Amino acid sequence: QRAFPTPEGATPMMAQFLDLRAEAPSDALLFYRMGDFYELFFDDAVRAAQALDIALTKRGEHQGEPVPMCGVPVHHAQSYLSRLIKAGFKVAVGEQMEDPTEAKKRGAKSVVRRAVTRIVTPGTLTEDDLLEARRANRIAALARLADGTRALAWADVTDGSFAAAALDSEAALEAELAALNPSELLCADEDARLAAELAPGAAITPRARAKFDASAGERRLKQRFEVHSLDAFGAFSRAEIAALGALLDYLELSQAGAPARLTPPRSEQAGAVMVIDPAARASLEIERTLQGARAGSLIEAVDRTVTAPGARLLAERLARPSMDIGQINARLDAAAFFLDNRAARLSVRERLKAAGDPARCLTRLLLGRGGPRDLAQLARALKEGERLIAGLGQTGLASAPPALTSALDALSLAARPELAALIADIARALSDEPPLLARDGGFIAPGWDPALDEARSLRDQSRRVVAGLQKTYADQTGVAGLKVKHNNVLGYFIEVTARHGDALMGDNAFIHRQTMANAVRFSTPELGELEAKIAQAGERALALELEAFEDLRTRVEDQAPAIRAAAAALAELDAAAANAEWAADAGAVRPVVDDSLVFEIEGGRHPVVEAALKRGGEARFTPNALSLDGAGQAQARLMLVTGPNMAGKSTYLRQNALIAVMAQAGLYVPAARARIGLVDRLFSRVGAADDLSRGRSTFMAEMIETAAILNQAGPRALVILDEIGRGTATFDGLSIAWAAVEHLHEVNRCRALFATHYHELTRLVDALDAAANASLRAKEWKGELVFLHEVQPGPADRSYGVEVARRAGLPPAAVARAREILDRLESDGAPAAALADLPLFSAAPPAPAPKPSAAEDRLKSIDPDGLSPKDALELIYVLKGMV
Ligand code: ADP
Repeated sequence: QRAFPTPEGATPMMAQFLDLRAEAPSDALLFYRMGDFYELFFDDAVRAAQALDIALTKRGEHQGEPVPMCGVPVHHAQSYLSRLIKAGFKVAVGEQMEDPTEAKKRGAKSVVRRAVTRIVTPGTLTEDDLLEARRANRIAALARLADGTRALAWADVTDGSFAAAALDSEAALEAELAALNPSELLCADEDARLAAELAPGAAITPRARAKFDASAGERRLKQRFEVHSLDAFGAFSRAEIAALGALLDYLELSQAGAPARLTPPRSEQAGAVMVIDPAARASLEIERTLQGARAGSLIEAVDRTVTAPGARLLAERLARPSMDIGQINARLDAAAFFLDNRAARLSVRERLKAAGDPARCLTRLLLGRGGPRDLAQLARALKEGERLIAGLGQTGLASAPPALTSALDALSLAARPELAALIADIARALSDEPPLLARDGGFIAPGWDPALDEARSLRDQSRRVVAGLQKTYADQTGVAGLKVKHNNVLGYFIEVTARHGDALMGDNAFIHRQTMANAVRFSTPELGELEAKIAQAGERALALELEAFEDLRTRVEDQAPAIRAAAAALAELDAAAANAEWAADAGAVRPVVDDSLVFEIEGGRHPVVEAALKRGGEARFTPNALSLDGAGQAQARLMLVTGPNMAGKSTYLRQNALIAVMAQAGLYVPAARARIGLVDRLFSRVGAADDLSRGRSTFMAEMIETAAILNQAGPRALVILDEIGRGTATFDGLSIAWAAVEHLHEVNRCRALFATHYHELTRLVDALDAAANASLRAKEWKGELVFLHEVQPGPADRSYGVEVARRAGLPPAAVARAREILDRLESDGAPAAALADLPLFSAAPPAPAPKPSAAEDRLKSIDPDGLSPKDALELIYVLKGMV
């Protein structure tokens, strides 16, 4: 908790600051607007100065102590804001709500009125330079009610989406949070620690428990969306309403009363998307690598979108693959259309490149933060939408699948005359390269508003008159070097060199204003009049421009739903065309997704590893098949994958998981053929990712994840287990791996891939009817181990581990001993028997080092420095004779 002083004895300004400070959330820094600066005081100043590395100064005293202060110029506030937000701060912006001259009128001592107009937090940003273009920026709220129910609500302010989901366990909550990846998470005060644990990447914003009250939330939602009952939007649980209500409350607070422009809430039904547990999401590197980079992730490998909204849509689909076969096929149909129609694909992609990010422009305009450039971009995007339809032509449109026609309909301006008129008007009204902000004017094109044109021509005329006056005055005074100039203090003035000053001094027509070292300045009533005219006309022009902007902005507001729909349609088209582009690039095929339990892949590839190999110009990726059937009849349900290290086991496991994710995201998959029965949950336990940040040992983390899988995987799940049991002693590890396989096979009965280095496990398939072995081949060639990366049926024929160990330089005695133990283990019928009689305990001593040979003895006795060249040569013959 941060403490600020009490207001006793404060100056009027300081009293106002402390008032605002008390009103703004205590975890936010307060930017207090003073003219051209945002100033920070007290603890805010100390923190901001440190975070921004700017000077911490002092301003006056409060209660006998100097007041720490720092400030940032308003014109550069954005970049400072961005740095503060990235450093984890929130910022409340306290603006001046009136012109300082107004305050003066109330009395010399009165302070300019100020109010907090906005709280900038990671989850409520709308400015392009504070946002990542290709990533959604979500804010979520976590509600846990006294009756034990829980829910998440989330919104993306930048596109207005607003949704909730009820969740039946903490694990489901964690999985959902991993999918949403919010940048900010609200929760009740007492849930703050849990929230931080569940969403490690998010800024946590604790709120009073009362904010999560379901009844209050319901009232708030009904009021905001102007309905009598929320049933209009779907069936919501109490917990969902509590979460939605708390989120809405916060969004209203952070925009300080400006309504957050959200679509009506929708409830996401349980089972609507494939649940990917957080460990699987991280280790499969779907959205980012384990190091947090986009490069090297699945999305980076498959993303061919040309717009930021398209990229966000694709990311959303991959993050939350669908469980709806109809929806999956609709996405695939749309991609198929663009795959078959190369010309249409190219032309649509070309058009989209010019479309920009209309959804984010719209939001800024709705929130009153938009500028002329947002208007222009919005209009350009919708215009491109129309051209895109024209480009497809009658035949193209007629052959488009239903999945695309609704998107194309949303772009058709012919059906929306008002919107069409608005777009045409924006295009006509704005100048070619409008500025970002409206405040300085200069963005309305000539010809749009006659009154504006007149004001401007008055201004320009007067300026021309001023320019003409220079010659007039020069002629009149005979001073050829006379100049008419302008500055902010004097306005227009005449300047002559000091030498000519006297000539003008005597003339009544010129009023002396300033004498400088080598120049003298004068004004004239005429110049003064023109000055006033220019200023007046300029002011009037600016007012007219702002009026025109506001007028267009209001019309945008009226058309917001149609604009939103069109923006969504552009993203949809981008995703579809990009899907086809990726399929064409990578030779990916359309997967068959049905409600069976099969998993049949021919010629499957790992998109990221394949791309890396291609880039490196190295060996080509070897495609591999997989055939599983959850029904467990003709095919195995569980596959044990063995093979030496580096043979390609993990790659094989991961590629199949990724293919499932891609298929249900509605993407073409890197394979020759794929048929996948819907996967409702994807689990994976891969490698030994340390989880020390959460205070768990590697082995503990591994076991927690394994436990979660064995406890939760149902018949529709897909489980990928790679090398479990590695983090502990051999007996432990083997036993745990063994039990896990049995449990998966007998209890979970789900499709599973299990890679293991415990060769003993391969014999389990004899006892388990729906389990099979597969292995990755390697062969020895000229003494080298060559990996073929080819999956074949049956267990790996021998353990190459010992061979690898030999190459690594393990002493020959240790290698020989390892071979002996391995032979015993492998020859001993049942692995259980081998365990009981593991030769580790039959204390056979390590074989003694072999006796040195005669040649070696002789070598040891040589003193090379004492040998002549001739002796040395002779010795070599002797030595050669000894071997
Ligand atoms: P393992 O899990 O068996 O130790 P990995 O799956 O990590 O082996 O694979 C090791 C390396 O082999 C990978 O980094 C990749 O470069 C290469 N590799 C794996 N599978 C293939 C494949 N199917 N085709 C070509 N190269 C592959």
